[in-house]
Amino acid sequence: MVPPLNIGIIRDERFLRHQTGLSHPETPQRLSVVHRMLDYDFAASFRERSAEPATLEQVEALHTPDYVRMVIATARRRFTNLAADTTASSESCFTSFLAAGACIRGARELLAGDYQAALALVRPPGHHAQPAKAEGFCILNNLGITALELVRRGLKRVLIVDWDLHHGNGLQKVFYESPEVFYFSSHHLHSYPHTGDWEEAGAGAGEGYTVNLCLPPGADDNDVVELYRQLLPTVVERYRPQIILVAAGFDAHREDPLSNLSMSAAGFGALGQLVADLGPRGCGAPVLLALEGGYEPTDLAECLRQVLLAWQGDPTMLERASSDRGAQWAEQARAVHRRYGVWMD
Ligand SMILES: [Zn+2]
Repeated sequence: MVPPLNIGIIRDERFLRHQTGLSHPETPQRLSVVHRMLDYDFAASFRERSAEPATLEQVEALHTPDYVRMVIATARRRFTNLAADTTASSESCFTSFLAAGACIRGARELLAGDYQAALALVRPPGHHAQPAKAEGFCILNNLGITALELVRRGLKRVLIVDWDLHHGNGLQKVFYESPEVFYFSSHHLHSYPHTGDWEEAGAGAGEGYTVNLCLPPGADDNDVVELYRQLLPTVVERYRPQIILVAAGFDAHREDPLSNLSMSAAGFGALGQLVADLGPRGCGAPVLLALEGGYEPTDLAECLRQVLLAWQGDPTMLERASSDRGAQWAEQARAVHRRYGVWMD
């Protein structure tokens, strides 16, 4: 019997106020369906916390003051296009500060020992947001701001695992030269934003601290879980993270309107179990999952349900799955990273 984790959820109705327009996939409904799932399937099982906004100082540790002024100005208008694919309603500025603050709160309470694993149910998402611009539905870089805040508080080794369908180009850019924040991403290379090739591995003092795993169309649960099981334990063993932050997008689900991969909720459950086994049940590092993509609300809710069941100790359906393709991709990553000697000799 795997021991259940002490789980916290950062949940706040105010995240529903960020409006994106009529035809945008990043809708408030994504979260309301997840909230219903929590109430129906896990009533009162978790410690629930509301969110609190990040401070201007925390946000400006990552974003430029000019950009932050531009975001604040959106509060005076009904709708603003911050980028071709990223809109802001009058409530979006506050909601964005709330999303970054929710992740900071979750991380702070994890490190204080309030719980071992936490889920920050935030929107807008964050991992594409750049220091000076919005993109990819992201306004502020929620986990980037959180990681910088943790480093400011003295942490030396923050591991970010990004399993969203898309490469977190904002996160990679911010931490590309930093050994204090290790960025580990799997994604489909030939989707937006077309960054994150195998060879992109960090620079300067951060060389070897960025891992990019490029998945071909059709990659399924067994492929992705095999890839993670072959690589992530080594990274955790060598890097010894003090906390694991997960950029948890679920748009690699086969039913997602943006997906060209073939994962199912069971695959995400297995990834959730792996990070729990390596972190809270393994080296002791707590884990924070922050919501990124995932645009089919019912499947998004089912993916999160599977992660929570794994955290509660249910064995996942992929206990003994394996994949030759996943093993080959793992070897490809090792071949790139052997030269840096950070986690692979
Ligand atoms: Zn995505």
